[in-house]
Amino acid sequence: MKAIHTFLFSGLTALTLLGCNQSHANNNDKQPKNSVHMKFEKVALPYATDALEPVISKQTVELHYGKHHQAYVDNLNRLIVGTKFENADLETIVKESDGAIFNNAGQTLNHNIYFTSFKKNGGGEPKGKLAKAINEQFGSFDKFQEEFTAAGVSLFGSGWVWLAKNNSGKLSILKESNAGNPLTSGLTPILGFDVWEHSYYLDYQNRRADHLKKLWEIIDWEVVSARY
Ligand code: MN
Repeated sequence: MKAIHTFLFSGLTALTLLGCNQSHANNNDKQPKNSVHMKFEKVALPYATDALEPVISKQTVELHYGKHHQAYVDNLNRLIVGTKFENADLETIVKESDGAIFNNAGQTLNHNIYFTSFKKNGGGEPKGKLAKAINEQFGSFDKFQEEFTAAGVSLFGSGWVWLAKNNSGKLSILKESNAGNPLTSGLTPILGFDVWEHSYYLDYQNRRADHLKKLWEIIDWEVVSARY
C-alpha cells in the first residue's frame, strides 16, 4: 500500500513539474492511448539557420538540427517511457544508461552542446580562465587547436572530439565514437565537434579535415568559456 501511495505521489509530482495542469490530467481519456508527454526538447538555435554560412550551410543546419537532432530527441522521449529514466534529467540518463537509450540521450546532449557553441562571425580565441588552462595544458592556443583538429580527423568512423575538464579544472582532448560524451568518464564537456558525416558531407563531402579547420571561425568562445 505504501509503495502504491509513493508511486501515485511521484507521478503527480512529475506531472506538476512537467507543467501538466489539472485540466490536462482530466482530459486524459481524450488523448490517444499511446500519447507521450514530450519531456525533452532540443535546445533553441541561438542564431538563424543561415548565420553560420559559409562554414556550415543553411541546408546542413536545417537537416542536422531540424531532422537529425530532432530524431534523437523524439527517440529518447519514446524510449524512456516506462523505464527508470522516465523522470530523470538528461545528464543522469547519459551517465547511467546504455544501448538505444544511451545512444539517443548522448546524441541529444551532444547536439545541445554543439549547436550552442557557434555564432555568426565567431572565432578568435578564448579569454580568461579557459585561455589560461589551455595554455597550461597544451602550450598555446594554436597547439590546442592543432591537437583538437587532428583528433577529429583521425577518429575512425562516426563520433565526437571533445575538450573536457576534470574536477580540478585540468583539460583534456577525448575522441569518442558514436554518441560518446566525456560525462561517462566523469569529465565535464567544454567543446565538442561532431565528426559524423551528416554534419559536413553536404558542404565538404569527404573533406572532414577542411570542415574541422573551418569550424574555428564560428566558435562562440563566450558560451564555451562559460562551461569552464
Ligand atoms: Mn550530428
